[in-house]
Parts: sequence; C-alpha cells; structure tokens
Amino acid sequence: MSLYDLIIRNGTLVTQAGISRADLAVADEHIVAIAPALEGTSKQEIDAAGLHIFPGVIDAHVHFNEPGRSDWEGFATGTRALAAGGTTTFFDMPLNAHPPTIDAASFDLKLAAAQAVSLVDFAFWGGLVPGNLEQLDELAERGVVGYKAFMSNSGIDDFPAVDDLTLYEGMARAARLGKIVAVHAENEQITSGLARRAIAEGRTGIRDYLASRPVVAELEAIERAILFASETGCALHIVHVSSGRGIRLVKAARERGIDVSCETCPHYLVLTDEDVEELGAVAKCAPPLRSVTEQEELWQEVLAGNVPMVASDHSPAPASMKTDANFFKVWGGISGCQSLLQLLLTYGYKKRWLPLTMIAAITAEYVARRFGLLPGKGGLAVGADADVVLVDLEQSGVLQAEDLFYRHPHSPYVGRMLHGRVVRTMVRGRTVFWAGKVVAEAGGRLVRPFRQ
Ligand code: ZN
Repeated sequence: MSLYDLIIRNGTLVTQAGISRADLAVADEHIVAIAPALEGTSKQEIDAAGLHIFPGVIDAHVHFNEPGRSDWEGFATGTRALAAGGTTTFFDMPLNAHPPTIDAASFDLKLAAAQAVSLVDFAFWGGLVPGNLEQLDELAERGVVGYKAFMSNSGIDDFPAVDDLTLYEGMARAARLGKIVAVHAENEQITSGLARRAIAEGRTGIRDYLASRPVVAELEAIERAILFASETGCALHIVHVSSGRGIRLVKAARERGIDVSCETCPHYLVLTDEDVEELGAVAKCAPPLRSVTEQEELWQEVLAGNVPMVASDHSPAPASMKTDANFFKVWGGISGCQSLLQLLLTYGYKKRWLPLTMIAAITAEYVARRFGLLPGKGGLAVGADADVVLVDLEQSGVLQAEDLFYRHPHSPYVGRMLHGRVVRTMVRGRTVFWAGKVVAEAGGRLVRPFRQ
C-alpha cells in the first residue's frame, strides 16, 4: 500500500476535461494518483467534502515592480495576494522593475528578489525595447517566458515603446529563439495624438481620458502585430484585449494559421466606463474600461470559448499616485490579482453560466499549454505539480479593503459581493494559504518554459 505525503479526499475536481468526484494524492510535490476512494495512507489528509478543487491559477500578467519600485507592490505582498486568491504561478512583466528586465543582468536581479520572498512559483517576461535586440538571446537562456513590447507609450521612461522596425526585427529574432512576443496593442499615434489635443484644450477629466483611447486604436495595433507575426513566423500574444472585436481579430488570424493568442482581464469583464466615472483613479487602466455594449460583446466571446485566457494585469501603485485632478496624469493600473478567480466565479459562473471547466481552462490549463509549462503546471493530472486551490462555491462575501493583501489595499472590486471562497491554496503540495491566512514562508521557484 502506498504511503503518500498527502491525500485530499472527497473533493470535486474541476479540469478542462470535466468535473469528477475523486481523491487526489501528493508525493514529492507532485500529484501522483487520482481516483475515487483512493487506497493508501498519507502523512496528512485533508477532507475536501463540499469543496471544488481547481488547478492553481496561472496569472500570465502581473506587475510587481521589484526590484526598484517595491514601494508600489513587491513580490512579498503581491504573492501573498495571489495565494489568497488561488493563484500558484505568475508571470511578472518587465517594465515596472528598475532596472527593467531587458537583459541577463536585470533578469538575475529580479530572480534574486523573487526567490527571497515569493510565496508562489513564478516566471518572467523579458522586455523588447528599442536597442535590446542583442540581449534577447541571453534572456532566452535565462528562461524568460517570452518578450513583452509596448506599441504605445508604457508610462515608464526606461521602458520605451517599440517602433515598427524594432517590433518586426524583434519578432523575427524571437521566432528563431522559439519565444513568444507579447504586445500591448494600442496605436501610439492615435492615443498620444488624442491625449495631446485634449490636454492642450484643457479637457483632462475622466471622460476625456477614456475618449483618447478608442477601440480603433486597439484594433489597428492588433492587426499590425498579427501581420508582423505572419511575416516573421513569430508566436504572438496580445495582452489585455478590451473588446470583442479585438478577440475576433485574433480568432480570425488563428483560423488563418497564424500562431497568435490573447488574454482579456477581469476588469474589462466586470467594470465599465460608468464605473470609472464613479470610482475614479482606482479604475483607470489602458486600454480603458469600455461601454456596457463593448463589455457584452467581450462576454459573448468568452462564453463562445474564443478567449484563450484571463489574466489580472495587476498594476498597483501607491494611493498618492492616484490623486491628480488631471486624469491623464493619474497613474493607470488596476489592483486586482487577488480577485481573479472569484471574479470569474461571480460574474462568469454565477451570473452567466460560464462553465467551471472553462474557468479551469482559461485560468490554468490553456495558459500552461500556450507558454510551455505543461506537464508541470496547469492541470490536475498525475505527474503535474500539486498546485491546487480548494474553493467553497457555496460561500460569498463582500470584498473589504482589509481582506486585501496588497501593499496598498485599494481595488475597484472593494464593496462587491464575490461568490466562491478560496479555502486553501497549495503550491507543489505545500499549503500557502488556508482559512483566510497566509500560512507559509517564501518558497516560490522560477518556472522555465519547456517551449524553446
Ligand atoms: Zn500590464
């Protein structure tokens, strides 16, 4: 009879393939057996009766700002928030660290910072900026998940937007390295031109900001990036798509055989332009929140299975950077990584019958497949890392600021009723969050993609 480290009994397992009642055994950080009424003994046993067991969420898009700007968030607080929300692996973006992650040396600095305090596992995006084409190889050797480029102003001076030539040549190089390029897709000339005009005319309110970043700016940039991907053979990922039309451009390109994926974010699915007017700076982001009509179109694409993944784009900042009367000057970025899974359970599963199996796919399984993390991450399968989250779908509660583990506990979701309580989060078999508390010390590891 087997002796396991842990058996989780009587839970309801949720995977892309289906929902089943089974026991799950863990040994040496891995899932080693899944079966109803599993035989064997274990050092620890957890009764998950009444709970749903999801694969740990993989959040492909966060900004934790370390090293250099950990006063905005940092790995310690950021990963506690992730653990509380059921996320077991995250990909950190390259731009808000100082130095930005655009070469091997800056990668190493970030790795040391994350290894010291991260509660959950992690991977890093490298940056693609004008002038660092020669550093893409060394970033690939370090194990970046891919390269992130901005097609419009990033808001960070030491992370400039790519010009078309840099993007085109960067994608050609990434293709040779077998790496994905991710783009923030908004047309720089449209967005900056409209912003300059509005500011010059003294129109600096919330509606003026929203109007300066129209959907067409997103659509044009997506089309251009897809064209470059088609020409270079580079795998492309469009981050934070804010419109149903944007999703459809990506889907159409995929159907033409182009290797392109995309993500949307909970804020585009939960909040609208009216919420920005009501909430102000805490709901500012780029691309901006859209109208109810645009949001409904986006939901239709999610429900139709055309949105491959949902990522938080957690982009925190101190409240002091959120106070300018000129809305263009307010720091843009929404704090939301702790609520990713609960928002999908609330506004997807509860409100719109989004299947739980699809939630497992868009938060974990597809993410792992797209970024080369299978078979270790993303699934509840024998051989995978024991990254699991136990959720009580019967419980709900209003999110309070004091529930947030962020360094700066503000979020546009405070005050919202959220369904589904994260009861326990485990990273490689180790409980990191349980019964409302972080219960472990640092122990997160770098995840290197297999895709090369
Ligand atoms: Zn972002």
